[in-house]
Amino acid sequence: MRAITHHTPDALLAAYAAGTLSPAFSLVVATHISICAECRAALEGHHAVGGALLDGSETAILSDALKSDILAMLDDPTPAATPLAAREGEGIYPGPVIEALKGKKPRWRSLGLGLKQAILSDDEHGSVRLLHIPAGQAVPDHGHNGMELTLVLQGSFSDETGQFARGDLEVADEDLDHTPVADGGAPCICLAATDAPLRFHSFMPRLFQPFFRI
Ligand code: ZN
Ligand code: ZN
Repeated sequence: MRAITHHTPDALLAAYAAGTLSPAFSLVVATHISICAECRAALEGHHAVGGALLDGSETAILSDALKSDILAMLDDPTPAATPLAAREGEGIYPGPVIEALKGKKPRWRSLGLGLKQAILSDDEHGSVRLLHIPAGQAVPDHGHNGMELTLVLQGSFSDETGQFARGDLEVADEDLDHTPVADGGAPCICLAATDAPLRFHSFMPRLFQPFFRI
């Protein structure tokens, strides 16, 4: 299998380890970690740093309230606490996605142009969905009002920043405008989370945007 080349940025991994990411972003990071040994090892490092804070002489300078906050944070059963690696190889959906689907098949809804989505969750803090992009098809050109995390689960896509295949994670923000296009071969299936609506540049996607909650 081709090696993963686009990983979880360290700041995002630290936020995930601290439990401060939204559930939508946490699901994408947990899914990447479940299929990426490199980020799994880096995450262990973040947990070890959290633990060392409590063991070392620094403990004395932590107030009791802060200490209990940190302890609570470390005890928090974040998705990373489950043995995700054991779920590898179960088809294209890694363990965290299977859990989000509650063991059921994705409920695909057409977006037109052969694009499909299955919304896993959608609330005021953001949304996370599966996207199905036929080979050669583009996702309409768009910008971002917040952060967008896109993890490839099958096939691959390319945009202005490079190529992304299974396991690769793209982090997009306000500074990036892009037109992701699925490469040839199998349809590209991605897990994508956003914390704000996308900014589509053409009229038709803008028109339908409220209906698709994208
Ligand atoms: Zn990684
Ligand atoms: Zn985007």
